[in-house]
Amino acid sequence: MRPSSGVERRTLSTKCPLDVGRTGSLRAAALQDITDLTGYEMYVTAYPCPMCLGALYYATPDRVVYAATREQEGEHYDDGNRYMSLRTFYDEYAKPIGEQNLPLVQGNVTDPTAPFRRWSALND
Ligand SMILES: [Zn+2]
Repeated sequence: MRPSSGVERRTLSTKCPLDVGRTGSLRAAALQDITDLTGYEMYVTAYPCPMCLGALYYATPDRVVYAATREQEGEHYDDGNRYMSLRTFYDEYAKPIGEQNLPLVQGNVTDPTAPFRRWSALND
């Protein structure tokens, strides 16, 4: 199956689905040892996709300025795949667990919080 033009545009250089617009910019900043964007403003071409938005929340810039809305961007291409499209991506995130198109199930683990308690113990 041929990927949509949006997917090709976003991942053409590396083929990695993580290499979308804003994450690439954040990676470039990190390579310059800039990982906390406090004091910085980000200027982006369109309202960030959920993956980029999450990365921006972690990077904590002072402000993000976007040019095109999601709807305006969506008029020109779509990231469509079998679980989401540019139009439905945000809706997918908001769905309750178990209702999302991507099958997400909690595995059968005896003590699922053990790694987090261990991490806390090592980092307190
Ligand atoms: Zn993105």
